[in-house]
Amino acid sequence: MNPGEKIRSLEQMDQWVAAERAAGRRIGFTCGSFDLLHAGHVQYLAAARELCDRLMVAVNSDASVSRYKSPLRPIVPEHERMIVVAGLAAVDAVTLMDDDRPLSLLLRWKPDLYIKGGDYAEDSLRSGDAARAYGGRVEVVKSGFETSSSGLMERIGAVALHAEPERAAVQSFRGLILLDRDGTLIRNVPFLHDPAKIEILPGVIDGLLKLQAAGLRLAIVTNQQGIGLGYYTVQDFIAVNQRLLRELGSAGIRISKIYFCPHSLAEQCSCRKPATGMITRAMREFGIAPEQTFLVGDSDDDMQAGADAGCQTVRVDRVGFAAAADQILSRAPG
Ligand SMILES: [Zn+2]
Repeated sequence: MNPGEKIRSLEQMDQWVAAERAAGRRIGFTCGSFDLLHAGHVQYLAAARELCDRLMVAVNSDASVSRYKSPLRPIVPEHERMIVVAGLAAVDAVTLMDDDRPLSLLLRWKPDLYIKGGDYAEDSLRSGDAARAYGGRVEVVKSGFETSSSGLMERIGAVALHAEPERAAVQSFRGLILLDRDGTLIRNVPFLHDPAKIEILPGVIDGLLKLQAAGLRLAIVTNQQGIGLGYYTVQDFIAVNQRLLRELGSAGIRISKIYFCPHSLAEQCSCRKPATGMITRAMREFGIAPEQTFLVGDSDDDMQAGADAGCQTVRVDRVGFAAAADQILSRAPG
């Protein structure tokens, strides 16, 4: 069976539930984000399936994962997470869950069993109570694995650190270059959220290579008001950065970190340039003094933020990136 055939809209699921119930089958329900599917998930779903005749899984939508886990998650988009879950033999039907909690779906389908992973025991008490109230049973299943998606992500980060010796080698570095993104590294496209529209500006590749070779570390500090205004999501923003990092990386350039402000002007946060929040945070995290830090940008806001944070500032829009890089090299402390 093609996994896609197990994926159903809420209305299609209504019919599926009615048909299974009419055939006298016991329906089990469980839910989760299933972002990085691992052995713990597989074993848990297999154990859940043994408790019932048919297992339906509600996969949290991207928006709900962002809300209840982290704005940086999920890693894998909802339609792909649903396909992966549907590909498991233990799973009979998959649907998308927009709410953070399964309460409304439980009340809609009243499955015989509401099955939860062991680690979710305490935060879904209300859903459990609701299931018991309509006569359903609540089962908690332990997976038997310690693996978790967050644990995997941590390990990926650690492996990346070990895999790239140049990162360890820059323990002592001459300075930190904080680069604005739009209008400085890439052509300014208002509310950019399409990776295909990235266009690295002239002189950027050579300039960054020179700075890097001189022992300066590179990070990005960027205002992304479009997120706060709802024009695009953090995931869209990350996808654009992923493309940029790939293009820079293939030229041999390493960006150590990306700081971004997701707020709109109206939110009056302390990170949106010309405020200094992102810059002071970067200096703190890199353990470097303002005198050894350069803010490179193309706007008055960039220059003001850098100056207010006590950094050196270099403006690229009039001279181009190559000349800006030379300026930094002539001013960087030995
Ligand atoms: Zn902000």
